[in-house]
Amino acid sequence: MEPHERISAKLAKFRPSLTLALKRLVAERHARGLPVFDFGLGETKGSLDPTIREAGERAFRDEHTMYTDPAGMLELRAAVLRWLGVGPLYGPDNVVITAGAKQSLFNIFLAVCNPADAVLFDAAPWVSYQPLATAAYGFPVMVLPMRGEERRLKVTVDDLRRNLDARPHAKIFVLNSPCNPTGQLYEADELNDLLNLCVERHVYFVLDRLYWRIVFDGARYPEPRIDEQTLPWLIQVDGMSKNFRRTGGLRIGWSVAPSDLSRAMANLQSHYTSGPATPTQRAALGAITQPYDTGIVTELQAKRDLLRREAADMPRVKVWPTPASFYSFWDVRGCFGLTTPQGAVLRNSDDMAAYLVQAAGVVTASGLGFMQNGYLRLSFATPDEHISVGMRSARQALAALR
Ligand code: PMP
Repeated sequence: MEPHERISAKLAKFRPSLTLALKRLVAERHARGLPVFDFGLGETKGSLDPTIREAGERAFRDEHTMYTDPAGMLELRAAVLRWLGVGPLYGPDNVVITAGAKQSLFNIFLAVCNPADAVLFDAAPWVSYQPLATAAYGFPVMVLPMRGEERRLKVTVDDLRRNLDARPHAKIFVLNSPCNPTGQLYEADELNDLLNLCVERHVYFVLDRLYWRIVFDGARYPEPRIDEQTLPWLIQVDGMSKNFRRTGGLRIGWSVAPSDLSRAMANLQSHYTSGPATPTQRAALGAITQPYDTGIVTELQAKRDLLRREAADMPRVKVWPTPASFYSFWDVRGCFGLTTPQGAVLRNSDDMAAYLVQAAGVVTASGLGFMQNGYLRLSFATPDEHISVGMRSARQALAALR
């Protein structure tokens, strides 16, 4: 075996997750005493809700540390159905509890895809969709909207139809709403038109709704239509990581899917994780069985508004509105071809992200991580002073381009 064959061809091509690279960059700058305004990581902060903490602590104290059902605790699976408000067509057998939403997605791809089956994603796919689909031997395809700019990268039913016509082996369409990275939210009719087309074509419609509680301006999350027709093709993915403070590290997610598919995923999971840690399942149960505290939504909306004010008329970039999630998405194509004070020419989103770090200490996520050159993602789940000072600093750096 040659040294370059030690790692499988599939995995050798993977880049490390964007998240890890950003964590490293922030730590390095802190260590060197350089200013850092961190808009990079998509992670909720603040203090853990006492109910969640106590439920986890109690689990250890009462020695709830034995294996659960591989699909997850029955009480938690039943609670997930109530949390999502899904009706009588579902029971706990439709739910699989996983180690974060990532594992739900991987379970789905592994359970559904035969080699080279196409997995379609929306137009700015979240960073891990493609590696997860590829690792499951799926063939990832990005659906590009015809009126991308005007629709802010939202996919229409015509876009999806065009792609399904061209891909007879399509098995899955994954839609993320609210969307990481664009912050866009699909309205109920947009969502259901896409779902109906998937039902018609017998393609699974995977709705990744991980940010569904973080919807602003008093709006409600637009729900997919659930009935006898749609249920066999609808899979919802959700979890603890974004809708509560400081809970990404709990590593709890879930899928709600047709029962045959859920059974296949639980079988699979019984061989590779046996389900997530029992005490964190109990912590999650504590979280989703109490009334939802909308304080986090109010806080994030105030941060969104602060950023919108501070970034108003930012030179050379267009800041998109954020109806949901905690991401501000910036169109930075107006900076391409310009020269930095150090004489470097900015050619793509990675250059832009690197320039903002070096010139302003502003850490963002490059659009290239989401297969969209020309954009940057800024997470405003960050302290207010980072937002105000960071935006001032970014403004100066952008004004210095020639
Ligand atoms: N889907 C989306 C859209 C996400 O943003 C993330 C996390 N950043 C995930 C899935 C994975 O979530 P988890 O941390 O629960 O595995």
